[in-house]
Amino acid sequence: MTSNRVLPTLVCASANPDKVYEIEQLLDGVVRLLPRPSEIPDVVEDADTLVGNARLKAMAILQATGLPAVADDTGMFVDALPGELGVRTARYAADRPEHAETPYAANRAKLLEALQEKGCVSEAERAAHFVTVVIVCFPDGSEIIVEGRCDGHIALAERGSRGFGFDPLFVPTPGVFEGDERTFAEMSDDEKNELSHRGRAFRALATTLPTHPF
Ligand code: IMP
Repeated sequence: MTSNRVLPTLVCASANPDKVYEIEQLLDGVVRLLPRPSEIPDVVEDADTLVGNARLKAMAILQATGLPAVADDTGMFVDALPGELGVRTARYAADRPEHAETPYAANRAKLLEALQEKGCVSEAERAAHFVTVVIVCFPDGSEIIVEGRCDGHIALAERGSRGFGFDPLFVPTPGVFEGDERTFAEMSDDEKNELSHRGRAFRALATTLPTHPF
């Protein structure tokens, strides 16, 4: 059955096709999501918090389009490596030449090596979590900020070919079923969205948005 409800319009601040793919699924039927206009240059994400970086991205789109803009920023936090990823997760292996060509693979390789060097073998020693912050910036200066978290651990080796980023290494806890040891890269889109930090954050946004005046 089709609905005649008018959906609020948001411009998506992300240009990363991996993230846009997930965000479109998560906000389907909740908002009319306009793509990021290609002529708007990328912002330098130099804030020291996830919410600060998300705001920089959303404000750049709001200022260029005059329309409400949605942006997200994600960090991975690894217990055994305090302060090393977090807000700078995307640039974790930027000290390695291969990061320029294959940033996701370089980041995963560096993480596996760092945990091996520290002798972290058990799931508890390899505990990690993702946090996604989602912000919507409105032309009247108001904001919605929501957050999603997913706990898990870093696998001993890469498994699976779906998803992006650290997905072949991240085992969410709990998984889809009892004893599920699959990484995100071994799950379907729906399974990942159900458990993931981004899924949780955008579902919180879907709940909050209708309470905000457009
Ligand atoms: P961003 O701020 O959303 O671009 O995320 C920063 C970095 O975290 C990305 O470059 C990825 O390496 C990683 N990342 C973010 N979201 C995910 C995810 O859903 N799965 C795996 N890695 C992710």
